[in-house]
Amino acid sequence: MPELPEVETVAEGLREGGLVGCRIDTITVHWPRTIARPGVAAFRKGLRGRQVTSVGRRGKFLILGLDNGRTLLIHLRMTGHLFFAAADEASHGHEHVVLGLDDRRELRYRDTRKFGRWWLVSDATDVIGHLGPEPLDPAFRSADFVKCLSKRRGALKPLLLNQSFIAGLGNIYVDEALWAAGLHPERKAETLSDEDRKRLYRTIREALRRGLRSMGTTLGSGLTTFRSVWGRKGTNRDKLNVFRRTGHPCPRCDTTIERLIVGQRSTHICPTCQQRP
Ligand SMILES: [Zn+2]
Repeated sequence: MPELPEVETVAEGLREGGLVGCRIDTITVHWPRTIARPGVAAFRKGLRGRQVTSVGRRGKFLILGLDNGRTLLIHLRMTGHLFFAAADEASHGHEHVVLGLDDRRELRYRDTRKFGRWWLVSDATDVIGHLGPEPLDPAFRSADFVKCLSKRRGALKPLLLNQSFIAGLGNIYVDEALWAAGLHPERKAETLSDEDRKRLYRTIREALRRGLRSMGTTLGSGLTTFRSVWGRKGTNRDKLNVFRRTGHPCPRCDTTIERLIVGQRSTHICPTCQQRP
């Protein structure tokens, strides 16, 4: 699933591709359930003729500002992929939403698993108001994270995956950040020292920045893996220390990396660097 670095890479691709300033002339919806809100007819009517004024990101949501003040939000979930195509280019399949732009291109949305969702709303906080702080926001400082975390109880992994605690993290970057901090994913938040909390703040940001620099993490191949708007794979997979490296040696201590299930999520740890509580 695309996480913060992958979604930011998509947002950058949309900006590079000149989406800001484009007018949306036609809207085709092949899979109505992709449109979470409003209904498909109101969605098409509300979007037709609108100009895109901004492309941003919050957590794992893409946020497209429109010239009438409304907002188009897109969550890629498992396999959502956005790309530009010439209007006369044949469909690649699984293209559930197609926006015809005023420059004879189309912005196409492909999603083999069909879990991705789009919203067209007047107030974006209806959809993203629940999100916690942005981990890479310069205004989000170590002291803020230490304070938030010191109020929480329970295992670290599900807490870090909770988008209302901190936005944008998923399975990949949580496993990487916990390994780098030397913290077991089942360690209880209330047992951490302030030093542990500061270290975790740092490793979360480092893991995300590394992912961003590599333009995301692409696992495997085929239509379901992450690709940028330009079809490029992210190269962060080569830089992963534990995620999906079960059976390989820990880069820090050579202990064999193990896979376990924490909060129903597949989790990867070094049993030496991350001592079970
Ligand atoms: Zn280790």
